Amino acid sequence: MIKYALRCEHDDRFEAWFADSSGYDDQAARGLIECPECGSIKISKAIMAPAVATSRKREATPQHQLKEIAGKVRTHIRNNYDYVGNEFATEARAMHDGDKPERLIYGEASPKESKALKDEGVPVTPLPDALTPVPPKKVN
Ligand SMILES: [Zn+2]
Repeated sequence: MIKYALRCEHDDRFEAWFADSSGYDDQAARGLIECPECGSIKISKAIMAPAVATSRKREATPQHQLKEIAGKVRTHIRNNYDYVGNEFATEARAMHDGDKPERLIYGEASPKESKALKDEGVPVTPLPDALTPVPPKKVN
C-alpha cells in the first residue's frame, strides 16, 4: 500500500491509499478519485512537504498566516524598493512627470501631499502599518 497526498483543481488537499503507484495512475485516469471537499475528479499529486512543515501548518491560525504574509511583503518592499524618506512626494511626482526614470520607491508623505498626488493622478498606494517595512537607517 502506498499513501499519496493529493490535491484537486481547487487546491483542496487530501490523502488516499493505493495498492501501488500504478493503482493511483489507473484510478486517476478513470476519474475514480474524487475530492472529498468539492467532488472534483481533476486530481493531481500534491507536492510533499516535510512532516515538520505540515504539522506547523496545521497549527497556523489565520493571524499567524497573515503575520507571515505581512512579513514577506515587508521584506519584498525592503529588498526591491528604494526608501526615499520625506522625498516621496517629490520623487513620485518627478517619475510621473517623466523627469526621472521610473523605479520602485517607498517613503513618507503627509496627508496633504498624498491628496495632492492623488489629485494630480500620480498612482500611489498607502501602505497599512503591518505592511510597512522598518525604514533603513541611512537614506541615499
Ligand atoms: Zn476539491
